[in-house]
This record gives sequence, structure tokens and C-alpha cells, in this order.
Amino acid sequence: MTDIIKLLPDHVANQIAAGEVVQRPASVVKELLENAIDAGATIIKLIVKDGGKALIQVVDDGSGMSETDARLSFERHATSKISSAQDLFNLRTKGFRGEALASIAAIAHVDMQTRTHTNEVGVHIKIEGSKIVSQEVVATPKGTSISVKNLFFNIPARRNFLKSNQVELRHITDEFHRVALVHPNIEFHFYNNGSEIFNLPKGKPRQRISHIFGSRMEDRLVPVNEETEVVKISGFICKPEFAKKSRGEQFFFANDRFIKSPYLHHAVSAAFEGLIKPDTYPGYFIYLEVDPSSIDINIHPTKTEVKFDDENTLYAILRSTVKHSLGQFNVAPILDFDHDPNLDTPYAYKEKGAVLPKVTVDATFNPFQEATERRSGGSFQKVSAKGWEDLYEGLDEDLDTDNFSSLAIESDSDVQGTMYTDDEVGEHLATTFQLRRKYVVSTVKSGMLVIHQNRAHERILFEKFLGEITVKEGVSQQLLFPLELSFNTQELGILQEIKDSLTNIGFAFESLEEETVKVTGVPLVVPESGIGTVLDRLIADYMEGFDTGSISQAEVLAQALSKNLAVRTGEILDQESQLALVNNLFACKEPTLSPFQKLTYTIISEGDIDKKFS
Ligand code: ADP
Ligand code: MG
Repeated sequence: MTDIIKLLPDHVANQIAAGEVVQRPASVVKELLENAIDAGATIIKLIVKDGGKALIQVVDDGSGMSETDARLSFERHATSKISSAQDLFNLRTKGFRGEALASIAAIAHVDMQTRTHTNEVGVHIKIEGSKIVSQEVVATPKGTSISVKNLFFNIPARRNFLKSNQVELRHITDEFHRVALVHPNIEFHFYNNGSEIFNLPKGKPRQRISHIFGSRMEDRLVPVNEETEVVKISGFICKPEFAKKSRGEQFFFANDRFIKSPYLHHAVSAAFEGLIKPDTYPGYFIYLEVDPSSIDINIHPTKTEVKFDDENTLYAILRSTVKHSLGQFNVAPILDFDHDPNLDTPYAYKEKGAVLPKVTVDATFNPFQEATERRSGGSFQKVSAKGWEDLYEGLDEDLDTDNFSSLAIESDSDVQGTMYTDDEVGEHLATTFQLRRKYVVSTVKSGMLVIHQNRAHERILFEKFLGEITVKEGVSQQLLFPLELSFNTQELGILQEIKDSLTNIGFAFESLEEETVKVTGVPLVVPESGIGTVLDRLIADYMEGFDTGSISQAEVLAQALSKNLAVRTGEILDQESQLALVNNLFACKEPTLSPFQKLTYTIISEGDIDKKFS
């Protein structure tokens, strides 16, 4: 038999390696920024176009490269950073594999200009798909400029796999944050499609954080500091009241490298336990310094997962350090151990105090007459938009009770919604009651109708918002005093992205350019006191949803809005609101499932009930 094993040609090997190193434009950004830092740059510019698909360029004022080095830098395993395996245990640089440039050059059009501090002239190299296209002498500032164009030009499958420009830009921004946060001594500029989106002057770590995440960060940060034999910890945690629904602002760095560590994250969360709502995450920027020999950063090619020698000790130290800071800076509120009668009330609603269930009796209301009238119409009317407002208002703290007693179900003959099949129409309009602040129970001909209040309301709001986003019919409530809210650059980007949809459902913004955004109007269902929270959560959910799912922007938004605005388990619904819930649920196109594909209601048949008594 003939020999069949061949050595792969370099460009093929490089392409394969590229698959590991370069997942998306953001990976290129990370590698180039890290190279610039390793080269001792003091000013770094990042320039991207079209989410990095068209261009990623990094310009630095670092050491630069000689002609030979410039050429060699594109070879695989070409590195100036380590020379023996032993060096791996004493790494002080970000790179060490010597793979990045070779990989990037294998799958893109790369253009490098570089000059060392001692050379008069520099070198300009063009390389496409691992092939050197040209190399010439050039007059160029000292330092290095590398531009990467047409990423994955020769691997269409990978190129097609890339997400929208906005999503790719978001990934790039994440990488940029991670690098910029560990190097407050380096000045960074970040341009996207020609406009500067970050301008980070040199400064202290704290200033760097607020330059990136907005000046509102200033008074949210609490320093953490600890020095032990095992680890030196520095950085900041965010005060508990600013815990967010998004996992965005959580950063661990080990020896100046961004790392992911669910285990250490747990240590921080444990320190915050009891101080923040269960579904929120504390913000933190924590810098760990350990002996380079006690950390293995080599277990993952993209190098964000690390292994510490003594993780358990690290966990304990970290948790107590964070706890200590929370206590020392007096941000841990005094715990109230008094027994709370609303044991099953979700955390978020505890502060609202107990709202007494209100039963309004309408003497003129004749359920049978109503039912007959409705039935004789052939189909049933939806509760008007007014019912909506009231359903929501009823759940908010400052309830104007008078409004409620005057509420009647208005019929609006233009809007015809079928609620039930004729067969099911029975006494259900007559009575509803709430069970354990979780279900709304009513009767239907075939038995007992049990509605999950939270999921049902999610479904109703979902369809409402989806409709409004597409047909632009949302009713806006103008704010007497425009509300000023501050957002960081990334959040602002998302707001701009979803602005049209938000406007369609009733939001009105004065300007969306600056860190401070003026909100001048909101949809009727959004309580004025909760505008900030709703927008924050919306942005967080949108970020997560849009990245993973393949559903449309409108659907992601409608989902996020419904999730954040729906009545929750634990909330008391008065009679009218219960009724509106039943009616509106069955006026939906798909009443059976919540927007998250969970069952919204069930009917327990009379037969099943009978069996219990047999
Ligand atoms: P690594 O960073 O792992 O060494 P790379 O492929 O990223 O591997 O880079 C290869 C080599 O090219 C580096 O070791 C360094 O010597 C040189 N190099 C890359 N980028 C720069 C830069 N911006 N300035 C100076 N030298 C650079
Ligand atoms: Mg490198």
C-alpha cells in the first residue's frame, strides 16, 4: 500500500488554525489590540467599518517591527514573546502563541505598515489569504498600523455565519471594553463607520470605568482592596441598588487579562446575597494579581478561561473582600428580620406595601344580561384600550381608587374579537376570583378556567406591542416634565437601533445622541415611575434575545416589553382587572401560550371535579 499521510501546506494549516483563533471580527480586534499593548503602545486607535466585516484597523505607537520581523510575524508560531516552554509559566505579555497574525492573514486581506523607533523608514506589507502580495519601503510614523479587510473572504460559510453589523459591533465593543479596562494608562480611540464612539484619555482605573460606562458610574462604585500572599485584589463593585438585570458590567481580570470565571462570579454574588433582587446581577470590575506560575491561561485557545492553582482559597478571599467593602462603605442596608406576612411576594414588590384587594360592586351590573347581549352579537367585544390602562394602573402603587369604581367595560363595535367558541360561553363573565395572587379563576361551560395571570398578561401585551410596532398605532402619554436618563455608549447604540419601534409603541425621545437621554413621552401602559427600569431591562433583554434567536426585532422587543410590563405572580388584581385579563386573553390570536411558549391557562373539566367526589 502506498503512503497516504501528507503534511498540510502552510496556508491550509493556517486556515485551520484561523478557525480556532478567529471566530468573528471581535476576535481580530482582540488580537490586534493585544499586540499593540505588548508592543508598549501609549496611544491606540481602533477603526472599524460595518461591524468589522469591511474593515478592522489598529494603529499603535509601539515598538514597531524591523523589515525581517514584519515579514516573520505572519509565519505560524512566530513570536518574540516566548522562546521556551518554561516561559509559559512566567507570562507577562498578552500574546505568546505566535498564531494570531498568521491566522488572520490566512482568511483576510491584511495591510501592515510598521517602523521601529530607530529606523528612518518603515515597511509596508500586503498579504491576502497567506500570500504576500507586495512588500515595499514606506515613510510611516513609528509604530504599527494593521488593517484587516474582507474577513473570511475565502471561507464563505464563515462569512455567512456572521451576525448583523450591529451585533458584530457589539462583540467588538465588548472586547474593546475588556482591553481598555485593564490599561487605563493607555489612551484609546475607537471609531465606527467614521465617527468616534470612544475617546478614552489616560487616567486612573476609576476614571476609565466612567469614561466607558458613563459618568453616572462615578457614584455607583465602591472600591475593593485586599492583599494576601495568594492574591492581590483591587477594583470596584457597584452598590447593590444598581444591580442590573443584564450580565453586562461584570469583569474579572487576572494579571491584566480579562477572564471568565463562573466560580469567582459566584463568590461575588454570594457576598451580595440578600442585598440585591434575586434576578439581578451585581456590577463589578475586579482585578486579581497572582503569581504567574499559579495560573494556567493556556487551557482555551481564546484564553478567557483560566485555571488557578488554589481556587478555593481565592473564592473565600474574594467573597470576604467584597463583603468587607460592602460593610465598610456602609452600603449594606441593615437587614430587617421582622416577619413579613407577604412571604410569597416577589422581592420587587415588597417595598410597595400590601395593597388591599378591592372589591367593587356595581349594582347595575347584570352578568346574564351582559352575556346575552354579547352573545346575541354573534361575537364578543374586546375591552377597550381604557381597560388596558386600568389593568396596569391597578397594579401600580399610587392607585387612584376612584378611577376604578367608575370603570365599566366599554364596548367598541369596531373592534370585534372572538373570545370563546359558543360552546364555551357560559357564566365565565359573571365571576372571577384570584387564587394565591397567581391565578385568575373563572367558570366556563365545561368546567373551571384557571388562568396564569403573569403569562396571560404577557401574551396580551405581546400581541398588543407586536401590533403597535408594525402598524405604528401606539398611544403616547406626554410627560409633563421630560425625564432625563443616562445610558452608556453601548446602551445608547441599542436605543438608537430600536428607536423606531419604541416610537411606534408610544415612546418619545428628544435626543438620542448624548449620554443623557430626554424621554418626553411613554406608552400608556408604562408607569411614569418605572420608565428608567423598563428601558434598562428592555435594553438588557434585547441584547440577549437578539443575539441568540432568529426572530425579528419586533418580536424580540415585544417579548421584552411584555416580560417587563406584565403583572407578576404575587400581585393583587381587583375584579375589573381580572375580568379584563380574561377578556383580553381570549381576544388574542394565540391565547393558549405565553410569548415564551408556556401554557397560559387550563380548564379543569367538570368531569374531573366530579371524580373527586365520587
Ligand atoms: P503573539 O502575539 O502570540 O506573539 P502574533 O501572531 O499576534 O503572535 O504576533 C507575532 C509577532 O509579531 C509578535 O510576537 C510580535 O513580535 C510581532 N507583532 C505583532 N503585532 C505587533 C505590533 N503591533 N507591534 C510590534 N510588533 C508586533
Ligand atoms: Mg498576538
